[in-house]
Amino acid sequence: MHLVIIGNGITGVSAALTARRLDPAARITLVSAESAHHYSRTALMYIYMGHMRYQDTKPYGDWFWAENRLELVHAEATGLDPAARQVQLSTGSRLPYERLLLATGSVTRFFGWPGQELRGVQGLYGLPDLEKMTRDTQGIARAVVVGGGLIGIELAEMLHARGIHVTLLVRESRYWELVLPPEEAALVERQIALHHLDLRLETEMRAVLGDADGRVRAVVTTAGEELPCQWVGIATGVAPNLALATSGGIETDRGILVDEHLQTSVPDVYAAGDCAQHRAPAAGQVPLEQLWYTGRLQGETVAHTICGQPTPYRRGQWFNSAKFFNLEYHTYGRVPAAPEAGTRTFCWQHPGGGQLLRINFEADEGHAVTGMNALGLRQRHAVWEQWLRAATPVTEVLARLGEANFDPEFFRRHEPAMRAAFARQFPDLPLATTSAGRRAVWSV
Ligand SMILES: Cc1cc2nc3c(=O)[nH]c(=O)nc-3n(C[C@H](O)[C@H](O)[C@H](O)COP(=O)(O)OP(=O)(O)OC[C@H]3O[C@@H](n4cnc5c(N)ncnc54)[C@H](O)[C@@H]3O)c2cc1C
Repeated sequence: MHLVIIGNGITGVSAALTARRLDPAARITLVSAESAHHYSRTALMYIYMGHMRYQDTKPYGDWFWAENRLELVHAEATGLDPAARQVQLSTGSRLPYERLLLATGSVTRFFGWPGQELRGVQGLYGLPDLEKMTRDTQGIARAVVVGGGLIGIELAEMLHARGIHVTLLVRESRYWELVLPPEEAALVERQIALHHLDLRLETEMRAVLGDADGRVRAVVTTAGEELPCQWVGIATGVAPNLALATSGGIETDRGILVDEHLQTSVPDVYAAGDCAQHRAPAAGQVPLEQLWYTGRLQGETVAHTICGQPTPYRRGQWFNSAKFFNLEYHTYGRVPAAPEAGTRTFCWQHPGGGQLLRINFEADEGHAVTGMNALGLRQRHAVWEQWLRAATPVTEVLARLGEANFDPEFFRRHEPAMRAAFARQFPDLPLATTSAGRRAVWSV
């Protein structure tokens, strides 16, 4: 079996490693235009900030690939011919395959703003973007970042670390309004203020203005203001990279359409990770998943099917984590920006404004936990996964909160204060015993 994988991101590499384990005899070829070896995309910001070098972002030594008989091709796949089972490469050669996995990731979304082609206007997705950003922000004083999500705040932090004044334009009335409940958004906005970023809510970019050399000199906002700047970061989202799939006549919508086995509309061609769109997502799941851990999971899953062990993709509990400057963020299960019908929400905040814990739970009798947000606190993934899967009553979770605490040992413990807050917010739900009827060991 010759498996060809297009893309050496987390999805492609997870698939390659799993396929190697399941089928020691298989020939496996990984094709990537971006880099000769796999690196951690989520660490891009740390290279810019000087915390890591590029070689530190590679989880495997360069010797690893040959040792595991994974053939690497550093080239762009420019065309796909499913009838001939061949991929056209930018080098001019053709690569035959028996099974093909498209793990082509995403591209930055641009919205056709006037002036978006000026030098100094860009997104941050890969190494070429990092190179451009490093070159074009050298010695500049002011930048504008457009978009109030995770990449927007990363860009702001990167620029801030180099002493560049940042204006952050956010269309909504609060930071990451479509994802974060108001209390969480307020905490992130506090971080933004503490780092002296100029946050403009309910403001969008209308156009970019250039100088005589074709370089950005200002941004015009929907409020009609002209903001002088020498660089503009586009962080208004990413879209699945469909170029190769469409060249081969594979069915696409917003992403490459796949069934539950991550099979595309063409036999023996699969798609996984950021570029894939689930035709029929399972209950509670979404059609497009553009996350590191779902990429890994999809890559591992599709490798089973490709190696003759058909395995449907099941994401399990939703999980994500990020960092807003110094504020760590973890979310498990379902925590929408506004409470879901039939659920209640408990929210504790430290009076100092640096920590928050939210637990959502069913309003009906079982009071099963449905989701959790933590800011400025570390919570154990495995413990929450288990509590959510077992539909654990919120009172039991509160009693056992210490089990999920993953803060360093010398950090202050907040569980007693959290339980006191819960008792105040939900006097109808006494915390005295666990579901097993044991006396919970806690104090308020
Ligand atoms: C700056 C940044 C920070 C992020 N931080 C987080 C985070 O903290 N947590 C989180 O969960 N997610 C984060 N993400 C998202 C996460 O990185 C992606 O979901 C994940 O990398 C997707 O993996 P993938 O393997 O599907 O695609 P990618 O990582 O995009 O890999 C696809 C690769 O395929 C290559 N490719 C595409 N087309 C071709 C072709 N025709 N020929 C050859 N090669 C091709 C691309 O160049 C790319 O290298 C972040 C993303 C960015 C950009």
